[in-house]
Amino acid sequence: MQELTHYIDGAHVKGTSGRFADVFNPATGEVQAKVPLASADELAHAVDVAQKAQPAWAATNPQRRARVMMKFVDLLNRDMDKLAEALSKEHGKTFPDAKGDVQRGLEVVEYCIGAPELLKGEYTDGAGPGIDMYSMRQPLGVSAGITPFNFPAMIPMWMFAPALACGNAFILKPSERDPSVPLMLAELLEEAGLPKGVLQVVNGDKEAVDAILDHEVIQSVGFVGSTPIAEYIYGRGCSNGKRVQCFGGAKNHMIVMPDADMDQAADALVGAGYGAAGERCMAISVAVPVGDETADRLIEKLVPRIEKLKVGPYTAGDDVDYGPVVTAAAKEKILGLVQSGVDQGAELVVDGRDFKLQGYEDGFFVGAHLFDRVTPDMDIYKQEIFGPVLSTVRAGSYEEALKLAMDHEMGNGTAIFTRDGDAARDFANRINIGMVGINVPIPVPLAYHTFGGWKKSMFGDLNQHGPDAFKFYTRTKTVTSRWPSGIKEGGEFNFKAMD
Ligand code: NAD
Repeated sequence: MQELTHYIDGAHVKGTSGRFADVFNPATGEVQAKVPLASADELAHAVDVAQKAQPAWAATNPQRRARVMMKFVDLLNRDMDKLAEALSKEHGKTFPDAKGDVQRGLEVVEYCIGAPELLKGEYTDGAGPGIDMYSMRQPLGVSAGITPFNFPAMIPMWMFAPALACGNAFILKPSERDPSVPLMLAELLEEAGLPKGVLQVVNGDKEAVDAILDHEVIQSVGFVGSTPIAEYIYGRGCSNGKRVQCFGGAKNHMIVMPDADMDQAADALVGAGYGAAGERCMAISVAVPVGDETADRLIEKLVPRIEKLKVGPYTAGDDVDYGPVVTAAAKEKILGLVQSGVDQGAELVVDGRDFKLQGYEDGFFVGAHLFDRVTPDMDIYKQEIFGPVLSTVRAGSYEEALKLAMDHEMGNGTAIFTRDGDAARDFANRINIGMVGINVPIPVPLAYHTFGGWKKSMFGDLNQHGPDAFKFYTRTKTVTSRWPSGIKEGGEFNFKAMD
């Protein structure tokens, strides 16, 4: 059995706590590795090393730091297949989707190559007589990030790339479900020229997380994961005086207007609802057709598409639409929620409950499900399912559809499908959700914009990546300098009394 490690001071380090978690191959259900779960002492050691390494890194000029990012991009491209394979094997997502996971992280690293420009600061010449004023963006020191299982390459890179480009040291606590890729990323960064100790990977669970939240040297904490944990981390981190940003769960609605291209809407819903087995915080989990006639047409288009979905292991390459979910517990939770939907009166139009994959009976595969006539009081509407289950809530009018999405406590992403520019504009302006798609089902902003939800999908103010990340990982220092007028007419050759 493979025993994974931490990555501290430029080396793989065995866990010493004696506690481990199983890492599964979700396609076969087998335990393929054990990951060490760090104690508070192990975490503290990693922070010590990071604290010692950080000043020299911060003093390295931003252009040189950016060159490390440039080289890192090359290495990510070189090892893309290797990274994607390790990722699929632990997460279960298809091979092309795993490459997408690496790619969307890589794009943020590319953005961070612009650190010298982004860190330039501000200058006012002649703010007063002989007075100039300038603001510098300085690194925080040691920052930490706690990441979820569903994007084990992308989200760590969204955090550590800007943090490092700004001159911080970084402690990454990846998900214990798929920790191999973060360890590989740390190795690649060192190969790219990052000095030892500047990025540490500490594997663990709640014990390591709590040690991060309570460690006084750690200045900022980034978290991505489920809402209850996001809320907990935000509260404890802030009360310990840290800068904290936490991104939580989602329930993303897609409004389908009567004038939408129904084939386009159905294709979009199938990709956004079932891709990655629904394990995306930007997955569409609620379809909201406006009007019964629209709903009937949409369901008619959706059913054959969903029934044709190919579910299988990543080893099947391009021949698979989505893979298994991450653990047996996740599968059980999803099927439990499906049952609650049936019990509470929703209409299960596509029933994937009996899905079995020959040769992979012990894998964590879940068949695709489609519900119609879901109502807002049902658990399948209120809760995030995080599986291949799409719920349809029929709305009587555009206003009703808008209100539905606005009243849900989550506010990560949403979309509207329409041919009416006025409806689209109105929706984008009024909706209280952070990321909006217009005829785009998964509107994940690109690296140079920022990513973040509203309501219970986000705690904090600054978003991930884009210019916000450079604000989050630096603090501003403003210098006011006054140089009184001095000697301007040649040297003084005689002793002069002080005046
Ligand atoms: P999770 O909340 O279970 O775990 C996230 C991280 O928190 C992991 O590193 C885990 O070890 C740690 N953790 C778990 N329980 C903890 C506890 N009690 N105390 C302290 N730390 C704890 O989330 P997950 O299952 O890994 O990921 C799926 C969730 O993440 C979904 O809700 C999804 O919507 C959300 N997500 C959100 C975004 C976003 O940007 N908003 C992006 C991706 C995933």
